[in-house]
Amino acid sequence: MLRHSDLISTIQGYDTDADVDSIERAYLFAAEAHGSQRRASGEPYISHPLAVAGILAGKKLDPATIKTALLHDTVEDTHATLGELSERFGGEVAGLVDGVTKLSKLELQPDQSKQAENFRKLVVAMSRDIRVLVVKLADRLHNMRTLEYVRSPEKRARIANETMEIYAPLAERIGMQDWHDELTDLCFAELHPEARRSVLARLEYLRERGHSLVDRVMEALRHDLAREGITAEVSGREKLPYSIWEKMKRKDVPFEQLTDIMAFRVIVDDVDGCYRALGVIHGKYRAVIGRFKDYISLPKLNGYQSIHTTVIGPENLRVEVQIRTRGMHRVAEFGVAAHWTYKNADGSSATDGLQYSWIRGLLEILEQASGADEFLEHTRLEMYKDQVFCFTPGGALIPLPQGATPVDFAYAVHSDIGDHCVGAKVNGKLVPLRSKLQNGDQVEITTSRGRLPSQEWLQFVVTGKARARVRRAVRLRERDQYITVGKEILKTAFSANRAELTNRALTPALDQFGYATPDDLFAALGEGLQGEQAVIQTLFPDKPDAAADDKVVALAPARRQRAREKERAEKPAVAIRGLIPGMAMHFARCCHPLPGDAIVGIVTTGKGVTIHTSDCASLESFRFTPERWLNVEWDPEAIAGHVARLRLSSAHQPGQLAQITASIAANRGNITNLRFTNRAEDFFDILIDIEVTDVSHLGNIIAALRALPTIASVERARG
Ligand code: MN
Repeated sequence: MLRHSDLISTIQGYDTDADVDSIERAYLFAAEAHGSQRRASGEPYISHPLAVAGILAGKKLDPATIKTALLHDTVEDTHATLGELSERFGGEVAGLVDGVTKLSKLELQPDQSKQAENFRKLVVAMSRDIRVLVVKLADRLHNMRTLEYVRSPEKRARIANETMEIYAPLAERIGMQDWHDELTDLCFAELHPEARRSVLARLEYLRERGHSLVDRVMEALRHDLAREGITAEVSGREKLPYSIWEKMKRKDVPFEQLTDIMAFRVIVDDVDGCYRALGVIHGKYRAVIGRFKDYISLPKLNGYQSIHTTVIGPENLRVEVQIRTRGMHRVAEFGVAAHWTYKNADGSSATDGLQYSWIRGLLEILEQASGADEFLEHTRLEMYKDQVFCFTPGGALIPLPQGATPVDFAYAVHSDIGDHCVGAKVNGKLVPLRSKLQNGDQVEITTSRGRLPSQEWLQFVVTGKARARVRRAVRLRERDQYITVGKEILKTAFSANRAELTNRALTPALDQFGYATPDDLFAALGEGLQGEQAVIQTLFPDKPDAAADDKVVALAPARRQRAREKERAEKPAVAIRGLIPGMAMHFARCCHPLPGDAIVGIVTTGKGVTIHTSDCASLESFRFTPERWLNVEWDPEAIAGHVARLRLSSAHQPGQLAQITASIAANRGNITNLRFTNRAEDFFDILIDIEVTDVSHLGNIIAALRALPTIASVERARG
């Protein structure tokens, strides 16, 4: 286990100005916050943040990043809060910890491996400060190093897959090549242990046959270069099993011919020396065709520069050689980080004491990415600034514009889901449809065939698709309502004339007033664009009966009168929007809708409109008469008592009922009826009618009842 004193001296080794004191405080704070928590390995938890900080110090990162590493799990896993961190360590560190915590939450989402590409974009988009990503990668590297201690094989596989698909490519992208190589090899060990074992066995065989071949090749290279007057540092190493495996797969090399296991590095003073060294090596050994790459004249986008070549070395073994300058080597080692300090050392850009200004520049590099082998191909990071990325419960990624709501999400998934959406859960919690979605949210949409898009949605949807669909639905429905009203008007007129309302019977009126279909006529009548009397005169010219006319004229006011009576009788008082003025309205007894419930109206001839909750089972019987459905909404301005019915099951105990009623009263619920439905020896069931103002009021009462120790269940009674 890394000691924090070692960490401090490593940092002092590259940054003499570092505020060691505050790094020490961050360590102590994290150690105390994690307390007696332990890692899966059994080590004290603090060993993990300490190791992550150590990995980052190995890349010479700035003190804020080191502190972030030490504190990175405190907000997620301990009682520490962001406010506390901000107070003690400043807004910069708190902001970075917040970013890392958010990225960690993404990992709890379901498997997105199929959409690794999108997911990588999401990770980048969420790390507005690139240091967040750097800390996250170091965190992942340490977790991968200790993966063997995770007990569940499924969890190990999930972590390894995610690392392979998402984090390893990101490490490569920002030039942390050694992190990339180690990450992929650790994944390889977890995901394909058999394959890795066979590569290792082959390595062992070649090692024995080669008798410290690495040393001999190194010695030969040094000698050859020195003879030509080139000063060079030569180092050699065996490649990691995964990169050998990859090459084998790519080149289709049979296992017995696998000899390409060594890599050598030649570091020289300047670019000229690179090409001269290349000449010496190619002069002595035969080059393998197709393996020469000049990243000096064509650097990789992450700033990496080197010459790569493979030659047939001693004993017919293939040997890979990388040739670079010292400056290029720093870039290869420290990623784009080194590129910046290197440039600064060159005097090409002023440091202004901002020793670590490169880290901010890293993001620019990511944003400028464009190239065939780059994952941000043809895209600019800026594009994601205005987007939020959300997930379906199945793990599909849905990109939406900033400010998008669950309704936008529903329409983005499918028009049909949008049209019938009644509710939404974000990260498992019920939220209003108008709430704004955040990056990484998992969104679950509840739908109901009975629900239709609501005009109110137009006030908050942001996507064009949602807006267009809602508008269209609202227009269609308004027409539907007018048709219903127009039809009712004519029905009354026909029955007054003892005739039957048929399409055929309407023909004279259609011809007379120029309507193409009976519905057009109904709609015009319902909307009041077409005079009723004129139509009735046309339809019943033989009976210019004044009485009939009077009756028709009187129809609408009569309906209004009925509605008023009904309103008084039902005492609804809460206004419902979306009704045609004058239509009677009452609440269905099957589902007892409350303000806040999603509702629909059903037109019932002679009874006006019945309001049901949109998930009410009885709506099923109106499935084939869509013309009777009305879209209605609660008027939030109006407040009044509503009766809700609760079904409650409780243990039988003296004084239990008194406790229940007291709890309801304490929450300002007014009990209007109470009935026992079942009495067992140990339990009883009751139905309670309670006057409440709306759904959230009822929710409070239900919560209070559930908190009573002897209550087995409380739910709204339906049907
Ligand atoms: Mn961690």
